[in-house]
Formats: sequence, C-alpha cells, structure tokens
Amino acid sequence: MVSSSKIALSAYELVEEVKVGSISVEDYIASMIERIGSMDERINAYITLNDHALEEARMIDKMVKGYSNDNGSYATKSLLGVPLAVKDNISTQGIRTTCASRMLEDYVPLYDATVVKRLKGAGAIVIGKTNMDEFGMGSTTEFSAFGATHNPWVYERVAGGSSGGSAAALAACMASIALGSDTGGSVRCPASFCSIYGLKPTYGLLSRYGLISYANSLECIGLMARSVLDLALMLKVAAGSDMQNDHTSIDANSSISLDLESMNHDLKGMRFATIREIVESEGTDEPVRDSMFDALSSVERLGAVVEEVSIPSLRYALASYYTIAMAEASSNLARYDGVRYGYTAQPDGVAWNEFYSKIRSNFGSEVKRRIMLGTYVLSSGYYGRYYMKAQKARALIRDEMLKVLNHYNAIMLPTMPILPPRIGERISDPLRLYMVDICTVIANLAGIPALSIPYSMYNGLPIGVQFMARHLDEPLLLRIAYALESARGDKVRRCMI
Ligand code: GLN
Repeated sequence: MVSSSKIALSAYELVEEVKVGSISVEDYIASMIERIGSMDERINAYITLNDHALEEARMIDKMVKGYSNDNGSYATKSLLGVPLAVKDNISTQGIRTTCASRMLEDYVPLYDATVVKRLKGAGAIVIGKTNMDEFGMGSTTEFSAFGATHNPWVYERVAGGSSGGSAAALAACMASIALGSDTGGSVRCPASFCSIYGLKPTYGLLSRYGLISYANSLECIGLMARSVLDLALMLKVAAGSDMQNDHTSIDANSSISLDLESMNHDLKGMRFATIREIVESEGTDEPVRDSMFDALSSVERLGAVVEEVSIPSLRYALASYYTIAMAEASSNLARYDGVRYGYTAQPDGVAWNEFYSKIRSNFGSEVKRRIMLGTYVLSSGYYGRYYMKAQKARALIRDEMLKVLNHYNAIMLPTMPILPPRIGERISDPLRLYMVDICTVIANLAGIPALSIPYSMYNGLPIGVQFMARHLDEPLLLRIAYALESARGDKVRRCMI
C-alpha cells in the first residue's frame, strides 16, 4: 500500500514515479479504493466504482515492466496510471451512468464519451462515477437521488454542485483528476467550495459526445484538478475536434499552446476587469468580497492592472440563463418516456397517458419543476415573450462581455457570491438557489472559457476566485492560475489528508 503523502501527489508527479517504476499502479489504485472505502460513507462523492480499475492498473504495471508487447508506447502516455473520477452524466463504457436520477438507475452505456476515451488513451484509469444534482440541475448536489455530497473541509456544508462528487473526491484525495460538466457553473461552483481548480473550457473545445444532455447550447465537459499543471495536462489530452460525433466541436487544440513550464511567474502587461454590478451586489457575502479584493491586490503585485467596468445587461443574465436552460432541458428530457431509454414499467393494459405519467414521476422534484417551466416558455403564445426574449438578452450579454474582453485580457470575479451553505439551508427556496449562479452563468451564455482558482479560506471554508477570457484563451487562464499558485506557495490547502 502507498503512504498517504503519495496518495496526495499531483497527477504530474504520480506519472513521473509510475514511469520510472517507483510506484506500482496496482498498489496506488488499491490504496485509493481502500481510502474511498473508509471515507466515502461520510462524504458520498461516488455513486458507482469501476470494478475493473485494479485490472486496468495491473495492465499498466505490465507495460512499464516490459511484460507486454506495447513497444514502450507507455512512455508517451501523459496520464499513465492516474486515477480519474468521472461525473455520472458522462458516459463510461460498461460502468453504470445514472445522472443521479432514478430514471437512469440501471443504465450502463455501450461506449465511452470522447473525452473519457481520450483520457483513458493517455493512461488514466476511471476509478468511479461521481455524485451530482440530478441531470446537472442544481448547485449543491442536494438534488441527487443518491443523497447530497458532503464538503470534505466542513462536513455539514455542501460540496457545491452540480459536479460536487468530483470536487469532493479530489479534495479528499479519492481521485487525482476529475471530469465534471458545466452548464451554468457546475464545475466552478464545487471547485470553489472544495478548494480545487475547475475549468469550464471554450464552448466546443471539448467534445460533448457522451455527455448526457441537460442544456446543449450552454454546457461543456469541464476539467478539475488539484494543481494547475494537472489541469494543463488534462486539457492537452482532452481537447480536440470530434466533428463526426459532435457538430459543435471545434478544431482548436493545435492553436492552443500550453507550455506551462516556460510560462512567466508574473502577470506583467496584463489588464483585468472586475464587474461593478457583481462586486457591489448585495448578494455577495462579506468574506467573499474581502477575498476578492485580496486576490485583486495579489494580481496587482504580480504586475497586472485591474480596473472596474460596468456591464449593465448582466442584470438579465440569470433570467436569460434559466429560461434557455429550462427550455432546452424540457426538450432533452422528453426522451425519457419509458419506451426508448431508462426506467420503464409494465404497461399492464393502462392508458398511455397513465403509463407515461407513472414513468415520468420518477424524476425528482427539481427536474419536474424545470421540465414544466421549460415547456411553458416554449409553448405557443409564450415562446416570443419568454424564450425569444431570453435569446436576445443572451446575445446582448455576449456582445457586452466580448467588448470588455477587447480591452482587457480577462474578467476577474468571485466564483460564488456566497460561502458553502449548510446542507439543507438553501434547498427549499429555488429562487434563492438560482441567484447564487450569477457569477458563473455569464461565461456559459457567452461561450467563453472560465477558471475557478482556489484562493483563500474563511473560518475553514474555501473561497475561490474566477477569471474569464476570450474564446480559446485557456492558456492565459492557466498562466494566471500558475502565477497565483507560484506566488502563494502552498498556502491554499488542496487535499484533505
Ligand atoms: N446551477 C445551475 C443550474 O442549476 C448550473 C448547473 C450546471 O452547470 N450543470 O442550472
């Protein structure tokens, strides 16, 4: 078994040790499974573990020892032996993929999502499937049919959502890297609440093939890690065109240069904008505002210039996001009809409507609410009044954001306006819950990349800071994170041991 300090290695360090044979992948994966066994009953980060993880680990050990005829190709695999946690709405061949819904409780995909396939191709081992809000709808994982994920830093608080299981698994060293999905903040929110990195890439940079749809025009598969280098490693492997499977995928990875080692540790010459409407908003908790101002001084010390700008259209951001997201959700979730996908029952001679209602009653309450609201905004007579208006607001927001990004390298914001709430604190009031997405949804509406960086702790509660950049400017986001990480040393704890 490997020691607990080794369990906390970054993916980058782990791969180096695996390649020289100083760590056996089998031991590593076995230790991680044991750790999950002892910790996850409390945290509830995983829904399903991969029964074949140890077998896959053994194969990698064989390759490294030269017992397989792979001709040394392992040497080029940049994620060799790295335990990967995958959000449970991303398809994994042969491993149950539930979307944290009763509707897909027994669903086992026949294929891997493109991003999973790429990471596995680089040597990563899927260790398990992580908890989330049902179909990605929520910000706390409290809407999971499998119970909420607890925050590893403060057990009675939420881990964030909807990719809360992935973030908690990383924070508790129950995985080395993780995948989430981000429709309106679901990677960045839990990253911020669990003190790890969470990247929502440019729309289309990572294939969505195999990601079970919630709101297609907004969502991306996102990357989560405990170090900036790990994030860069993942991005290099995961990005790339997949036109035959996902028509919205773009072929841009060749133009993205991610050589972090040669990056400067300063931010000289950079210009960042903060947004007045958000920083001054009453909904922002005091400790979050303080942390944001502290981060602002940090980037200034590193050589950046920060100025405040106003983006008036942001007041429509939440309404526009939730109208579009619910409309798309109502259409996407229509496929769960008891005939083609997921949960079904014996028709028993009942009328079709009755059968259909019985099947559809398996959705949780939040999903039902969104299907109903989404159907309403798309119905004739209301379509123009709500859906079209939301699309117009979206265009306005995107234009205003891009205009700001013409003058500045990045927009700097808190990731979440609040500290991680107590479990049960927010769930009863949906509107209050939707409000906390104000700092994240704007990147999805504009399709631009955004990164949540673990920044500080307030009474043991993690606080993140967020940067948004121009389309395909992920390298800039990583550079900012790298400069902050280097400047702060290991002041931010990134792994609960
Ligand atoms: N909290 C937001 C929502 O409920 C974002 C969710 C997500 O990004 N999947 O829609």
